[in-house]
Amino acid sequence: MIPTARIDGTLGAQASPGDVLSPSQVSSLMECAYRWHAKYVLKMPETPTSHQVLGRAVHSALAANCEQKCDTKVDLPTVGVVAVYRGAWATLSEGMEFRDDEDPYELGKTGELLVAKYMEEAAPRIEPAAVEVRVEGVISGVKVTGYIDLLDVHGCVVDIKTAKARPSSISPMHRFQVATYWHLTPRARGTGRVDTLVKTKTPQLIQQPFSISEQELRAIETLYPKAQELMRGSVHFPNRQSMFCSRRHCGFWRHCEQKWGGEVPET
Ligand code: SF4
Repeated sequence: MIPTARIDGTLGAQASPGDVLSPSQVSSLMECAYRWHAKYVLKMPETPTSHQVLGRAVHSALAANCEQKCDTKVDLPTVGVVAVYRGAWATLSEGMEFRDDEDPYELGKTGELLVAKYMEEAAPRIEPAAVEVRVEGVISGVKVTGYIDLLDVHGCVVDIKTAKARPSSISPMHRFQVATYWHLTPRARGTGRVDTLVKTKTPQLIQQPFSISEQELRAIETLYPKAQELMRGSVHFPNRQSMFCSRRHCGFWRHCEQKWGGEVPET
């Protein structure tokens, strides 16, 4: 099955917005409170960008490989995983409106190169224990849930990302995410790794391992209750200063302009 979206933060049938949090909800709130409000409270449909769709297709192909490897201990042939990616890309990008400066064929090919890169360089050294693991629990009185991309047999939480540029460091929210998972699952050992596939002309794979510090554990204890308080508040301010605030990156930009006025930048 092709996952069409990460389901972090999906609320239970009885829950109201802000009752059950996830690392991605907190990250979304910190980037732009109004974007969080539009998605989780107004439940407005968000049109995914081509970058997001490509990331999901790459992710689903690599997850399919790791999932079967949990039992077989052997990777699928790269050509087979690329074929899974092609199917996912075709399904997920169907009917999508690409921007004038985007070439769907070229984008699709870029994803194939990224999948092949990961299969050749990273996959052989991964010993997966579980894929897309749902975790849940309570942090500082707040119910928290989420999905771990990949947990290896050593208890390391691995997050696989695609990016346009080579990351210079691990973002604080990635550390926040892994600290959350460490807290919520006994099998996690407090170490994490972000594997970033970079969409440069020649694809790159950047692997960034790290350990969870006391300060990061303190961050999850302080931020979840504060985020919940803000979510339950009555005002959710638009953050036009966010680096993700643009017509290219925010699917709610039209609604946001109508509601708040002003002009959302193109890129
Ligand atoms: S357009 Fe910008 S300010 Fe408006 S919701 Fe999106 S990210 Fe927030």
